[in-house]
Amino acid sequence: MDYSIDCEMNRSQQKCKVCGRVDKFNYNVPDEMWRAIVPHSFQNNVVCLSCFDDFASETGIGYTYALQSLFFAGRKACFEFRVKQAIRVGE
Ligand SMILES: [Zn+2]
Repeated sequence: MDYSIDCEMNRSQQKCKVCGRVDKFNYNVPDEMWRAIVPHSFQNNVVCLSCFDDFASETGIGYTYALQSLFFAGRKACFEFRVKQAIRVGE
């Protein structure tokens, strides 16, 4: 993935279509997991990681090892994160 593109994306101040908050964290999960967890009406929209986690909790589908990338795309700085440790919770 091109890091600079992810950083540019946030200049438009994208908002989560579920909670309405500005979403500065860009992340990716496999398509099949996205379709299984996110309700159909939101699948083609921005869904922040917090709301994605809520949907995962509601569906009971674990995504502990599915996070493929995570970026913070701020207005003054951008960061790419790597998972150091993943812990399954709530099961
Ligand atoms: Zn949200």
